[in-house]
Amino acid sequence: MILILKPDAEHSSADYQLLIRYLDSLSGITQKVRHVQGTEQRLTEIYLLGDTARLSLNFMKSLPCVRRVVRVQEAYRVLGRHGQDDFPYSFEYKGVRFDQDSLHIFAGLCAVDTREHVEMMMRTLKQHGQVCTRMGAYKPRTSPYSFQGHGKVCLPYVFELAGKYGIRIIAMEVTHESHIAEIDEALTQAGHPTGVLLQIGTRNTQNFELLKCAGRQQEHPVLIKRGFGITLNESLNAAEYLASEGNSKVIFALRGMKTNLGDPHRNMVDFSHVPVVHRLTRMPVCIDPSHSVGSRHKSPDGILDVMHVTAQGVIAGANMVLVDFHPRPSKALVDGPQALLPEELPLFIEDIRIAREAYEKRRALVRSYQAAA
Ligand code: PEP
Ligand code: MN
Repeated sequence: MILILKPDAEHSSADYQLLIRYLDSLSGITQKVRHVQGTEQRLTEIYLLGDTARLSLNFMKSLPCVRRVVRVQEAYRVLGRHGQDDFPYSFEYKGVRFDQDSLHIFAGLCAVDTREHVEMMMRTLKQHGQVCTRMGAYKPRTSPYSFQGHGKVCLPYVFELAGKYGIRIIAMEVTHESHIAEIDEALTQAGHPTGVLLQIGTRNTQNFELLKCAGRQQEHPVLIKRGFGITLNESLNAAEYLASEGNSKVIFALRGMKTNLGDPHRNMVDFSHVPVVHRLTRMPVCIDPSHSVGSRHKSPDGILDVMHVTAQGVIAGANMVLVDFHPRPSKALVDGPQALLPEELPLFIEDIRIAREAYEKRRALVRSYQAAA
């Protein structure tokens, strides 16, 4: 059972103390207090664990400070939406706000290869007003003989250049607990010129020990990719592992599902699930058009498939776009064939702006119909 308290309920107030004293007196029931930061308000939620079936909803609702009471049958206790939950959940990291209403582009290298390419990419991002990027240092590869990423060796120059070009957040995959420590060490050495959004890749969606580690630390938000061969429910439960350990700054990424039915795309594009994840959870939803499509094929209208599917995700309300770019795709050590070119960045941004505007118009249209009804 979750007690959602009235906004900004003061913990020092007599009412709050009264409520806690009452909850303490319930035998066989323990409490866990969580704070949820909304756009304008901070909300306190008290999770009651144990034999809560005997508690009456109406009585619990009559307790001081309590605004709403939710019986949680659903699996996603922290990240899920419960009942008529319309509280606007959001979090901020390095001055960038993430929620189900915002939209950020994380364009960058699938894998860091040379300092020169990192610098070319970041310079282009700055020219076009971008403050977020992706830079892979630890690469999970199908073959053990493929390039595995430069690992911690590249972190000093990646972070230094991020500072130089005003990059506030870098999405970076981690495949082992030790990578989080290496990133923290390198950030400290560099004087924290930027932030890192820890990425859990599709191969590690159900690496529960890694999830627990990323969930226990509170510094970095986490971008968790949907597992490419498991159900949506299983992937959302994986995200819940992060939150259950204490880190609810979680973004959920769709990146296509592994099936030959998606051919000639690398994966079956699943961006129709953007609104589904919005409905089931409070998480901002990211789309990764590069790993979904996997090529630079274009249709007769001249639009690349990568851009078509990006627009499809954005028009459905996506909140983040994670996308591969490379200044010299033929020299890229990972995923060159699907990379967009730096000179395509303004086109990509404008195409996204058009799709976003269409989404906002669709949303306004529905609201005006609802208001009239
Ligand atoms: C990536 O984003 O670089 C990546 C490896 O993606 P995924 O885990 O979705 O395959
Ligand atoms: Mn890749």
